[in-house]
Amino acid sequence: MGCEVMQEALQEIKKGIRKGDKCLKCNRQAKVLLPYGPQKFCEKHFIELIEKRFRNTVRRYKLIKPNEKLVVAVSGGKDSLTALYLTQKFFRKTNSIVALLIDEGIRGYRDKALKFAIKNCNAWDIPYKLVKFKDEFGFSMSQIYRKMQKAKQNLGSACAFCGTLRRTLINKYSKRLKADKLITGHNLDDELQSILMNACDNDLVRFLRCGPVSGVKSFTQFVQRIKPLCEIPENEIMLYADYVGIEYYSACCPFRSEAKRNAYRKVLNSLERAYPGTKFSLWNFFLQVKPMLLESKQFKMLELKECKLCSEPTVSEICDACKKLKLLRKL
Ligand code: SF4
Repeated sequence: MGCEVMQEALQEIKKGIRKGDKCLKCNRQAKVLLPYGPQKFCEKHFIELIEKRFRNTVRRYKLIKPNEKLVVAVSGGKDSLTALYLTQKFFRKTNSIVALLIDEGIRGYRDKALKFAIKNCNAWDIPYKLVKFKDEFGFSMSQIYRKMQKAKQNLGSACAFCGTLRRTLINKYSKRLKADKLITGHNLDDELQSILMNACDNDLVRFLRCGPVSGVKSFTQFVQRIKPLCEIPENEIMLYADYVGIEYYSACCPFRSEAKRNAYRKVLNSLERAYPGTKFSLWNFFLQVKPMLLESKQFKMLELKECKLCSEPTVSEICDACKKLKLLRKL
C-alpha cells in the first residue's frame, strides 16, 4: 500500500488538468499542472524539466566536480532512488559512485525498502555498502522503539533517535568509503519543513544545516553533504520517478506519525494550496538569509570538535548520537 500522504501530494499536480489542456513546450495534451507557474507539461517535457532542475542545482551551487567520489545515501524510497538514478545518469562518466544503504531495523518496512534499493543498484550497476543499526549500535530501531515505549520518561519521537543515529552512520561510512561528497535525496519539501521547524525551535545550527550544501563549518571529520534535489517539490519527484520507471518502496514508515515535521508539512502544504508559489518564495528567502547568518557573531563562536566517545563531529563534548546511545543502554 502506498503512503497516503504521498498519494495525496501526487494528485495535487494531476487533478487540475482538463482534456484539451496543452503542454507549454509542444502543444501536446498536458498531463501535469504546476500551479505555482502556472505551467502545464506533457510527460516528455515534465521529465526534461526535472532533469534540467537537477543539473541546474548541481551547477548553480557547484555541488559536484569531475573525479570526485560520490557516495549516495539510499533508503529505497522515491527521493534517494531518484537522486541515485539522476547521479548515475549524468555523472557516471566523470565520477565514481557508491550507494550507502542504512538498515535501521524497522521490521516490515526498511527490509522491504532495501530490496528496492539493492535491485536498482544492481540494475544500474552501482556498487553498494549495507550498514545495520543492530551491528553498529547493538539495537535495531524496532527495539529502540519498544524501549522508548516502556520508559517512564518522555524521550521524544522515534524519528529523533533514528535520524541522529543514521546521520552519524552515514558520515562514518562515507569517510570509510573515502567519499568527497555525500549525496542525499532531500527534496524541497524536506528542506522547507526543516527550515521552518528549526526556526520555530530557535535552533540556529540545525537551521544552517539546511540548503543545497549542508555542513555549516568545514571540518576534516565531516564529509560534505549535498542535496541536488533540494529545489524539486516532493510530488514532482514522485511523478518523475513513476514516469522514468524507477521502482521504489512507497509505504510510509510505521513511526512516521510521530514525526514533528508532519505538523510543518501540513502547514506548508495548506499555504501552498492557498497561495501557490509560497514554497519557492520561502526557499529563496532562506537562500538570502543563510549567508548573513553564517557571518553572524553568534554563529562564528560555534566550534566543531571531535566527540570524545566516537570522534564524529559535534558542537559539544559528546555528540547527540552518543548521548542517545548512553540513554538507551540505561533503559
Ligand atoms: Fe526513521 Fe522516522 Fe524516517 Fe521512520 S520516519 S525511517 S523512524 S526518521
